[in-house]
Amino acid sequence: MSTGLRGNWNYPTTIWAGPGRIAELAAACASAGMKRPLIVTDEGLVNTPMLKSALASLKDAALFGAVRGNPALSHVEAGLRAYRSGHHDGVVAFGGGSALDVGKVVAFLSGQTRPLWDFEDIGDWWTRADPAGIAPIVAVPTTAGTGSEVGRAGVILNEETHQKKIIFHPLMMPRVVISDAELTVGLPRAVTAATGIDAFVHCFEAFCAPGFHPLADGVALEGMRLIHQYLPRACANGKDIEARAQMLAAASMGATAFQKGLGGVHAIAHPVGSWFNTHHGLTNAVILPYVMTYNRNAIADKADTIARVLDLPAHGFDGFLAQVMQMRRELDIPHSLAEIGVSIDKAEIIGREAAIDPSASGNPIPINAAQLEHIFRAAVSGRLDSVQSAA
Ligand SMILES: [Zn+2]
Repeated sequence: MSTGLRGNWNYPTTIWAGPGRIAELAAACASAGMKRPLIVTDEGLVNTPMLKSALASLKDAALFGAVRGNPALSHVEAGLRAYRSGHHDGVVAFGGGSALDVGKVVAFLSGQTRPLWDFEDIGDWWTRADPAGIAPIVAVPTTAGTGSEVGRAGVILNEETHQKKIIFHPLMMPRVVISDAELTVGLPRAVTAATGIDAFVHCFEAFCAPGFHPLADGVALEGMRLIHQYLPRACANGKDIEARAQMLAAASMGATAFQKGLGGVHAIAHPVGSWFNTHHGLTNAVILPYVMTYNRNAIADKADTIARVLDLPAHGFDGFLAQVMQMRRELDIPHSLAEIGVSIDKAEIIGREAAIDPSASGNPIPINAAQLEHIFRAAVSGRLDSVQSAA
């Protein structure tokens, strides 16, 4: 193990970074104040050696492994039942973005009396929660993308309305994160690519979001630089621990940066994921150049800054867009939403729901339902040249 990839960080929360550090899971739980943790994980990870050894390393822990992609209220409710019936005192959220989000929301809801949707990220709704009823969380990411391990929110699907809702509370920030690149070496190339581009989009949208936030901007730029350098390596050789470790860090950086805001890519990707059950990262990867082109005039200077930080052969908006297109091609990302099963018939609904998605307010220029629908239609048909850039 290279000690050069090891560190203990204290922002935005306590992060124990380094290959092999999953061995410190019991210490992380003790440090977070839990004695009987519930491990919440993805369905597909339940029978893996990493989950079995994590469970074996914790005394009095139990496993809840019924989380699927695009998790819904029913997953959270099942997790809550497991939490309460097992008399747990904390959650180890272990897996990809879906498991991390469900684990965090279960911990949050464990001591609340109001229903989940009362805590949607609207205004000061989070103050409705009883902070004493929020259980501690230890997060163990096994993908490098969502950055949910350092986020204060979880995205949960409302199956009745088909809308993805953001549940927010500052105390949903995990107390300890174990950032162990060895847990990500088994990720298939396609998942590595899709989740990695999700992290890139987090950094990119945060950097381009309006507002004064140089801290977030700095984190976002370095995150993009790391992903530009290491995502191709992680995809070419999944066992490249250095590339995996840098990607895990970059994913956490993306979510740290997007406290500043996201933008049109996520605004469209959320309803698309709700209606078509597409992979979140892959959806963002497809949509990215369409929204970039729409925002072109508003982000020309920022795109040039990114192009220079990434040391691209061509600068300016065009140099950066060319790089994004090349990255998508190299990582076998489809060019159109149609290729991932999205159809045009929901265009009006997608536009409408994207406009009220909280991410839309972070777009570099104000964007309405008709404009979002226009971008969505172009992305479904794969016609980038049909996107009209806003003035
Ligand atoms: Zn995302």
